[in-house]
Amino acid sequence: MLNYEQQERWSKIVPNWQSPINIITTDTIKEKWNKDLLIFDEEYKFINILNKGNNLQYDGRGVAIIEGRKFDFQQLHFHFPAEHQIDGQVYPMELHFVHQNIIGQITVVALFVELGDFNRELGDFFRDFPAVESEKDPFSAKLSLDGLIGNLDSGVYHYLGSLTTPPLVKNVEWWVIQKAITVSSEQLEGIKKRFQHKNAREIQKVNERKVIYYEN
Ligand SMILES: [Zn+2]
Repeated sequence: MLNYEQQERWSKIVPNWQSPINIITTDTIKEKWNKDLLIFDEEYKFINILNKGNNLQYDGRGVAIIEGRKFDFQQLHFHFPAEHQIDGQVYPMELHFVHQNIIGQITVVALFVELGDFNRELGDFFRDFPAVESEKDPFSAKLSLDGLIGNLDSGVYHYLGSLTTPPLVKNVEWWVIQKAITVSSEQLEGIKKRFQHKNAREIQKVNERKVIYYEN
């Protein structure tokens, strides 16, 4: 029972569930992937680019169905290096697709990037985008999450955390795609040039949280 005389202790009762985390694969709860878990049928259309100082935010529109709930895609941004880790492994880059539903729940799909083959989807996306905010208009860039991850044959990690930038909003649902997409080294350098800063938040404590791993 909560003690209203000692409310300063409540913060110790309710752990501070923040992101990003290092996902320890042997600590995850394994579940079977259900085909209705994540549905990204709709191509996201981008309408604006915002320079956030240490990041570029690509605002867009689109719909995702996540565990049967409708979410509106809001924006995509990038982190260098990746923020989440899997068993301590740090990828060179991580994409965050931020979604929100009608009652304000935020869900982020995180996608790791590693060096490898040229990525056509990302190539097309950046080709259609100017490098700086002042050059915006009119945008025709599109990006399909299904196109990016459809052929990965990947599982996904799911846990409850926060935004990784202030205001560090809590109760954010994270869906961290297990397998990384690839970009060529030239492509990675080109993308990095658009961002002047290293912009990864440090790893946060997992505390009592459980990470679910949906196997494909
Ligand atoms: Zn982010």
